Amino acid sequence: MNDSSLLSFARGYCLSCGERLQTSWTYNNLFAWRAAHLCDTCTGQLPTITGPACPECSAPEHVEVCADCLSWRRRSEDVRWVKNVSLFHYDDWMQAWTARWKFRGDAVMAAAFYYGLRRAYRQHFRGFVPVPVPLAPLRMQERRFNQAEVLAAGLKVPYVLALERPEREGGKQSKQTKRERLQTVRGFTVPAPEIISGRNVLIIDDIYTTGATVRESAQVLEAAGAASTASLTLIRA
Ligand SMILES: [Zn+2]
Ligand SMILES: [Zn+2]
Repeated sequence: MNDSSLLSFARGYCLSCGERLQTSWTYNNLFAWRAAHLCDTCTGQLPTITGPACPECSAPEHVEVCADCLSWRRRSEDVRWVKNVSLFHYDDWMQAWTARWKFRGDAVMAAAFYYGLRRAYRQHFRGFVPVPVPLAPLRMQERRFNQAEVLAAGLKVPYVLALERPEREGGKQSKQTKRERLQTVRGFTVPAPEIISGRNVLIIDDIYTTGATVRESAQVLEAAGAASTASLTLIRA
């Protein structure tokens, strides 16, 4: 987080555009985004997902399960996948926001979305244990924070760092057992399976695009003993 966004957070300025927030604590705005640090103008620009969406991945404008999800079902038959819920579309506003958030290290900007994330958690995933998707260690060094962990922290539910993503070591694939291979898809591992064993796991990430990151995390977590898997992501691209 940098100094200017920390100041905005502390003094009641919009985390997106820097306008002074005109906060009036009416009954109505207990339910509005501006209670979560955005001004009215920016709140109006949020590309909130409303209306019909795929019941398994939140892809907008689907009523039935979408073709991508049907394909994931075929590829991972043993996975007890619940669903992905996302809050927003990926439009120009959201793209600019995420660029600023990730690459300038403004971890505190995520506070604008904590309210919505908590509401989605209570509505869809009560009792699930949140597990943020890790960054590869080199990425983590560059960026200094993991945006998925920042989102998970906002849920105010204890989360666990069950997934790890070691830097890839080539050439060892052939020596692995099937279980080991399953546990290292995309480089993810679950070093301490007992912390998620038998639990419903909620994978947290910033964006669901093809679903590969989340779905492969789900496979690894279920191979390690999770009872079921789901995901909560900020954006459905
Ligand atoms: Zn604003
Ligand atoms: Zn879908």
